[in-house]
This record gives sequence, C-alpha cells and structure tokens, in this order.
Amino acid sequence: MEQKLPSFVVIMGQKVTISHEVPEKHADTELSLYQGLYFPLEKHIFINPELNEENQLRTLYHEMGHALMYRASIPCMEKFDIDLHELIVDVYSTFIYEFFHSGESEQMDSGQSHE
Ligand SMILES: [Zn+2]
Repeated sequence: MEQKLPSFVVIMGQKVTISHEVPEKHADTELSLYQGLYFPLEKHIFINPELNEENQLRTLYHEMGHALMYRASIPCMEKFDIDLHELIVDVYSTFIYEFFHSGESEQMDSGQSHE
C-alpha cells in the first residue's frame, strides 16, 4: 500500500520516522491490535495501514502527541498517568487534525456540541 503519510516528522528538534512497519526489535508485536505506536528509543512511529486515510492522520497526530510528551519529559508512571497521557494526546490530535483539515469538509460545524 502506498504510504500517504510523511516519512518523518520533527518533534522538538528530533527526527522521528513514520511507516507502516515497526522497528526490527519489535517485529513480534501483534500490529493488528494497534492503530499506531510510538517507539521513543528508535524514534519511530508505526501507523496501521488498515486504517482509512483520515484515521491514519488522526493516529499520526495522536502518536506525535506521545512523542511530544516524551520529548518534554512529562513522566508517565502509573495507570492514572497513562490515562491522562491518552486524554491529553487525544485532545492535542483532535486540535491538530481540525486545524489542518477543517477546510476539507462542508459537514463541519453542524451545530452539534461536544460533551
Ligand atoms: Zn495513545
């Protein structure tokens, strides 16, 4: 499948590669379980190629959020912190997606409020 994503992004000065594969060391990962994964040591983001184009981008922004948190040295130690990280990167990725893609759909701003 042709990759429509960029091949890398820069997160706080560090180049992070993006692909539909995981680093060799993690080759035994059951990839179908994940929409995306961030590998801080390998500076790599995996995006599941089975996702549609929009969800690949949303997932990329989500994983970039994890990378940003990691780069900013925001610790993630306990269950609560992991949930908090997920919440923060979900908000971040939604913001980024809407910022860059709000002009692509006429269906936006349909008056629905978000809880
Ligand atoms: Zn996540």
